[in-house]
Amino acid sequence: MRENIHPAYPTAKVHCACGATWETRSTHGDLHLDICSNCHPFFTGKQKLLDTQGRIDRFRKKYANAPATPVKKKAAPAKAEKKAAPKKEKKAKEPAAKA
Ligand SMILES: [Zn+2]
Repeated sequence: MRENIHPAYPTAKVHCACGATWETRSTHGDLHLDICSNCHPFFTGKQKLLDTQGRIDRFRKKYANAPATPVKKKAAPAKAEKKAAPKKEKKAKEPAAKA
């Protein structure tokens, strides 16, 4: 290692919002985390939603009375097929008429 070019690399304490703490090394100093492997849902297997701004409640209020399956989507593909079919016929006829 060259001298006088490397930053200080002391031990640093990591603090998570769940209360877990551990030591590591860092050039940045102590770390404060919102989530860690002790409390993340991927590792715990429990669902934990941090609803800080009430977004989940607003979503549930907005779609509480909505139907389970929208009716409009079933009609849309049938119309698209009917419209698409005549266009293909026109395109096929045009080159034949020119030639
Ligand atoms: Zn944590």
